[in-house]
Amino acid sequence: MLERHRHHDVIVIGAGFAGLGATRDLLRAGASVQLLEARGRVGGRAFTRYLSDGTQLDLGGQWIGPTQELILELVEHYGVETYPTPRIGDPVVDMGGERLTSPPAEVDALLEDIDLLALQVTPERPWDAPEARAWDQQTFASWLVGTEYSETTIRYVARIVSGGLLAGAPSEASLLETLFYIASAGGIRPLLGYEGGAQQTRITGGAQIVAEHMASDLPPGVLRLNEPVTSVEYGSTDARVTTTTHAYTADRVIVALPPTLAARLRFDPALPPLNDGALQRTPAGSALKVHAIHSEPFWRDQGLSGVSTSATGVLTETVDNTPPGGPSAVLTGFVYGEEAVLLRARPLEERRRIVLERMADLFGDRARSPEDYVEFDWMGEQWTRGCFSGHMVPGTTVTFGPALRTPVEVVHWAGTETATRWNGYFDGALSSGRRAAAEVRASLDDQVSEE
Ligand SMILES: Cc1cc2nc3c(=O)[nH]c(=O)nc-3n(C[C@H](O)[C@H](O)[C@H](O)COP(=O)(O)OP(=O)(O)OC[C@H]3O[C@@H](n4cnc5c(N)ncnc54)[C@H](O)[C@@H]3O)c2cc1C
Repeated sequence: MLERHRHHDVIVIGAGFAGLGATRDLLRAGASVQLLEARGRVGGRAFTRYLSDGTQLDLGGQWIGPTQELILELVEHYGVETYPTPRIGDPVVDMGGERLTSPPAEVDALLEDIDLLALQVTPERPWDAPEARAWDQQTFASWLVGTEYSETTIRYVARIVSGGLLAGAPSEASLLETLFYIASAGGIRPLLGYEGGAQQTRITGGAQIVAEHMASDLPPGVLRLNEPVTSVEYGSTDARVTTTTHAYTADRVIVALPPTLAARLRFDPALPPLNDGALQRTPAGSALKVHAIHSEPFWRDQGLSGVSTSATGVLTETVDNTPPGGPSAVLTGFVYGEEAVLLRARPLEERRRIVLERMADLFGDRARSPEDYVEFDWMGEQWTRGCFSGHMVPGTTVTFGPALRTPVEVVHWAGTETATRWNGYFDGALSSGRRAAAEVRASLDDQVSEE
């Protein structure tokens, strides 16, 4: 027999930044809220772990940038310290044999072309872009191949845009979905950049600490950990939400989950076809974030920053992830799309050897023998199922896209995948929570005025 709880105004499902943000806004507006989280911790895709010597490792999201106002507001509110991403020395740009310290002019020209197209996309309504249908029906890969740039430039840009931003292959997202993502961040430079861009700043103590501050601000009883939601029975005035151990009722529900997990809840009645279809068509990306732990940042002795971007090799990107004051130095690498899927299938020892071999190509022999090697498999995480975030599959943004955040009776949708600003980022998660909370408040007000 499931234990029953008192009726609430709103149940929020998922205590990542989206769910925590929505809960915070609703409580401030005087609503009673129950926040249900499957894991034994908050933060979702923000997950910080410490090595035995105290070195901070952000296994999930880590960077924040200067135009990400909502996450910056929280950082300031909680007095959380930040530090600039270390960039001492030159980056390595491996164009497939040719090793440079900045991308060639052709890369800039192609990025500029992409940016110009993204300017034609309104993030709130990508399906209204002048060539929306045509752009949705071709993949980013097929569009790239039709440009006049060299094969290496195309390969490099495909890897840093589709891999580095959408965590997939350029054949996995449409041109329209890719442009929408870029437009939601205000352009490609804010996305790819360090100074002035999304990779500018890191959070001392790790990104999860901000989520923990938000959770510790909640009145007792609001947050319930270790409560995976299994079903949502809903109507036009209220809903019943069942977890593995309890049943809850409320006037409204906010589902603040990655779409691929929202699709696994049992809705009764079944969701309308467009809403269900939108969830089905937004799979999570595939990325592996790997960390090599060294006693010192030896790459700096060679005048290298630890930042690399490559047109070839298993690691599309690396970065110096050493926290200020160490104690250990951290070189982090990213593997994306098909390469991530194939690498993940190999045994750990082999993955480690392949990754370190590539780090040695980029930064010399010392990279081959770190003190430690740490991976975290987001694709294998039951309550995430892939990263960094989900994207609509080609040909579906125009048709199913609007349904991704259209409420169904009393059920509302949040999560970074529903964001129109900084989609895929902490900031997008927070703005989606804010939007969903505002929607719920308005609909509760309407209900009161009708009664
Ligand atoms: C490796 C990696 C690197 C990234 N890098 C960055 C970065 O540098 N900067 C940045 O801004 N963003 C980055 N991101 C993306 C960022 O982490 C996400 O956009 C953001 O954290 C998503 O927040 P969310 O609340 O929408 O979803 P989530 O964080 O996924 O929260 C959803 C919550 O729902 C819970 N849940 C799932 N199923 C159920 C269920 N059935 N019942 C109850 N609860 C459930 C989950 O446990 C989770 O806590 C990265 C992500 C990853 C994984």
